[in-house]
Amino acid sequence: MIVLDKKEQDYLLSTIRCINDFPKLGIVFRDITTLLNDKKAFKFLIDHLQKRYESYGLDYIVGIESRGFIFGAALSARLNIGFVPIRKPKKLPYITISQKYSLEYGVDEVQMHIDAFGDTKNAKVLLIDDLIATGGTAKASVELIKQANANCVEACFIVNLKDLGGEKEIAKLTKIYSVLEV
Ligand code: AMP
Repeated sequence: MIVLDKKEQDYLLSTIRCINDFPKLGIVFRDITTLLNDKKAFKFLIDHLQKRYESYGLDYIVGIESRGFIFGAALSARLNIGFVPIRKPKKLPYITISQKYSLEYGVDEVQMHIDAFGDTKNAKVLLIDDLIATGGTAKASVELIKQANANCVEACFIVNLKDLGGEKEIAKLTKIYSVLEV
């Protein structure tokens, strides 16, 4: 399985900016815009993901709104396969399927177009997002992919905030790959 070595991980991690107390006091926000505007780092990351996933025989990449769109769309173009967006409610214009999930206070929801995987039966899908924290969004997204009768073969995150334990939640449903762990 293709993964980055420690030196490569440290390099990529050094291109992600940390913003303290954003959007709330006590949160360290991992700002991936500094990775994206560094052409060497962005290419290095997408090259790596291409190498890892070109042998998977994927039918689609599914990206989670909104930063999952950036990595997912770049990778799907490289792999010459389609890209499917998972969005927050009332953003997608056609008929949607939905999955609700719990937040600390209240519930949230993710949606996908009902025909997102076209005529492909049991589509082999990779889910991608920039970061996994508690895993709530990603878990609901894997369930949404299942609801669409597709097969989520792996969930990929650029950054895993290990202490928040989200990966354990996802590991119950599918394989998980985090490029970087902090
Ligand atoms: P969760 O559902 O708790 O795993 O949250 C994951 C989503 O929230 C991802 O789409 C991230 O983009 C965003 N997110 C959560 N925590 C952070 C953080 N510390 N820095 C950047 N993005 C975050």
